[in-house]
Amino acid sequence: MSKYGISRRGFVAGMASAAGVLTTRPLDLFAESPEAAARRLRERRPAEDPYDLLAKLSFNENPYGPPESVLKAMTTAFKYANRYGYPDGGITEEIAKHHGVKTENVLLAAGSGEILDVVGTAFASEKKVVGVEPSYGFVYSHVASVKGGAITLPLTSDYRQDIGALINTTKRHYRDVGFVYLCNPNNPTGRIVTKAEVKQLLDGIPEDMPVLIDEAYFHFVEDPSYGTAVPYVLEGRPVIVTRTFSKIAALAGMRLGYAIATPDLIAQMRPFVSDSISAVVKWGGVAALKDTAAQAHVKQVTLDLRKKATADLQSLGFSVIPSETNFFMVDLKRPVKPVIAEFEKKGVLVGRPFPPMDQHLRVSVGNPDEMKRFAAAFREIMLPATKAASGS
Ligand code: PLP
Repeated sequence: MSKYGISRRGFVAGMASAAGVLTTRPLDLFAESPEAAARRLRERRPAEDPYDLLAKLSFNENPYGPPESVLKAMTTAFKYANRYGYPDGGITEEIAKHHGVKTENVLLAAGSGEILDVVGTAFASEKKVVGVEPSYGFVYSHVASVKGGAITLPLTSDYRQDIGALINTTKRHYRDVGFVYLCNPNNPTGRIVTKAEVKQLLDGIPEDMPVLIDEAYFHFVEDPSYGTAVPYVLEGRPVIVTRTFSKIAALAGMRLGYAIATPDLIAQMRPFVSDSISAVVKWGGVAALKDTAAQAHVKQVTLDLRKKATADLQSLGFSVIPSETNFFMVDLKRPVKPVIAEFEKKGVLVGRPFPPMDQHLRVSVGNPDEMKRFAAAFREIMLPATKAASGS
């Protein structure tokens, strides 16, 4: 009982019934164990909102949600919701251990997108970023917002990043260039830059040029010629590697990402981070790093579904860019924008246009049900048009 004559438990229940709007029990942290709360949180997934009914294949998210281990850690961390000086589960130390680097090499942020912005602000205000197009374009738009600019280069004919052109352009514009951006694997194509090509790039540009290597989709890659660029940080090169908990770890809505870089580069970036990450997600991040089995499972089911969807589309006569990620691009052979609108009418959200690839549709790999809905919608939207175009 509190001094006001009402127990905490009774207060929560009373508030819920007074509000009269809750169709399912609220997450009553005082009434049940973290395990039970986490289980109930997972179970109460049925649609409560129109958003829940959509097949969400437009943001390369993880459709399965965080595993039990992560939900449990986050639920327990709610006890720090009212504190500033909360213990953070040792998230920076865990990340450092995970990569074999020191804590001074780690910079946390509210999503890796925040790090991308911070790199733009720290290194390219009134300067330029060099990268390919299409890529993760928010890097270029952020640099523009800090009075910088972007020098973007086309992809090769097989949709890969042209390392030779990146080197030549960086050298040619050396004085104006603030950093080079390499999204690896690249979003939206899903194609990788090999370890040998990363080395070629780093060895080919002036040695003091910062290179931002965005490894948001690292965990989905199978190709053995691919590898992380973290070892270059240990060599002391001006490389900033970014990682996110939004994809394989399914914490996109919770916002957690980080950079691995030399202490010198981190010192230049740190003044620009918000340093405002919630206690709950820090504890979730620690649990996610430890739950390698859950991540291996997500990778397996995702790649199986991607391969199945790719084979189905190819059997219908559409070519798909070989992807190493949890999304892929299919060539529609017609402008993508109206097709995206058609999918939306059928409750299937698929990727936005990525100029200049105006006929390629980016599709995130959802869960089995979402992929079935995508396949059905694709047939309905695309097959009459293809038959009409071929005269049949
Ligand atoms: N980098 C790439 C290539 C992405 O595709 C995304 C998100 O889709 C991000 C970074 C940002 O992710 P977040 O801010 O959720 O870590």
